[in-house]
Amino acid sequence: MTDPLRPNGPRIIAVANQKGGVGKTTTTINLGAALCELGQKVLVVDLDPQGNASTGLGIEPEDREYTTYELLLDEADLDSVILSTSTDNLHLIPATVDLSSADIELISNEKRSYLLHDALRQPAMSRLDFDVVLIDCPPSLNLLTVNAMVASHSVLVPLQSEFFALEGLSQLMLTIREVRQSANPGLRIEGIVLTMYDARNNLSQLVEADARSNLGDLVFSTVIPRNVRVSEAPSYALPVLAYDTGSKGAQAYRALAAELIKKYEKHAA
Ligand code: ADP
Ligand code: MG
Repeated sequence: MTDPLRPNGPRIIAVANQKGGVGKTTTTINLGAALCELGQKVLVVDLDPQGNASTGLGIEPEDREYTTYELLLDEADLDSVILSTSTDNLHLIPATVDLSSADIELISNEKRSYLLHDALRQPAMSRLDFDVVLIDCPPSLNLLTVNAMVASHSVLVPLQSEFFALEGLSQLMLTIREVRQSANPGLRIEGIVLTMYDARNNLSQLVEADARSNLGDLVFSTVIPRNVRVSEAPSYALPVLAYDTGSKGAQAYRALAAELIKKYEKHAA
């Protein structure tokens, strides 16, 4: 509670990119696990009806009784929706396919953009004492993603190291600007992280050069390599840090977590 880096509750970070398959869920799970290794208490919010973060953290659909759907639309208590995972200090609010109708149901709700914001600020939050909340967004710029951005302090954008990677970025930035103007003026871009990087592939290097020249300091120095252990880990219901702790993927996510924490320390100084 007296942590000077965290004066007002947990840091809330939306992991967003409207493209599917760019590494949002993988980054949420493994950055979360890496932050836990550094002593942080982390909550992952699965905001994707596909529920991949829930599956990847070992929570089977039949064990997802209360989910982000109930949190958003039935005003469920935080205590009733938060589950532990096999990683110490890594907790989860799971999602199921039920969430796919939420986008429509939200439209008629007058607090439609603020439901996640308000849910994550329930009084129970201070007792739960999380350091970081990571929100795994769906592959869309829909109301769920807007809820994540309104609820968050910052947006972390995974960018797949492939040809059209930068193309969707202007739309994403536009949405961030709209959210700043309408609801959350303090929303920052936490950074852009290159994922599935293949150092032997010229294209990866071109995308990296392009991203760094266009986006400068917004791009994390850490790059996440394409690593088969990263893609195998979810089928063992584990972060790659637990599945193969010495793998290149695990090391990269540790480096990303360290870079993130260092940035916060610099800001706090
Ligand atoms: P998103 O959540 O953006 O849709 P995912 O995190 O689910 O993307 O990643 C898409 C696919 O790519 C998954 O099968 C995942 O296992 C795989 N993947 C993600 N990152 C890596 C990586 N660094 N190396 C190898 N495979 C990866
Ligand atoms: Mg995903």
